[in-house]
Amino acid sequence: MPRGSSDKAKWYADGLRFECQPDCGACCTNHGDYAYVYLENEEIEAMAALLGLTRTRFEQDYTVLDEGYRVLRMDQPDCPFLEDKRCNVYEARPVQCRTFPFWNENLRNKTSWKKLREFCPGIDQGEKVPLVQIERQRIERGD
Ligand code: SF4
Ligand code: SF4
Repeated sequence: MPRGSSDKAKWYADGLRFECQPDCGACCTNHGDYAYVYLENEEIEAMAALLGLTRTRFEQDYTVLDEGYRVLRMDQPDCPFLEDKRCNVYEARPVQCRTFPFWNENLRNKTSWKKLREFCPGIDQGEKVPLVQIERQRIERGD
């Protein structure tokens, strides 16, 4: 198969329009499939450092274990760092937050992408995000 042909075959090869909307924060709320933000060790360390907390204190106050995985608490009822529709740990937000909406499950096909419009008003807004940037974010998440 010629180099690059698999990328060309992707349904979003021409890029996808997405622009996060100001004062939204809907993806940081607890709803269905989006109730879990999984955390790696370095992400916990980074957020704890930003907040001036020890790792232990951060874990006690802001995380829970879900089937052995450390996740952000989303029972207040939303992410504890969502305040006035803004992220209080934006500079150190986890990769899952940084790479939304370019996750494998959202890029499966046009239907899964369009379904995001049910809660994300940034879908199909603004300039096209090019394929290379979409793939960079998808891979950064480990998809
Ligand atoms: S739901 Fe979409 S538009 Fe709203 S904050 Fe999240 S990414 Fe941005
Ligand atoms: S850490 Fe920030 S970006 Fe991630 S869910 Fe919480 S408020 Fe949203």
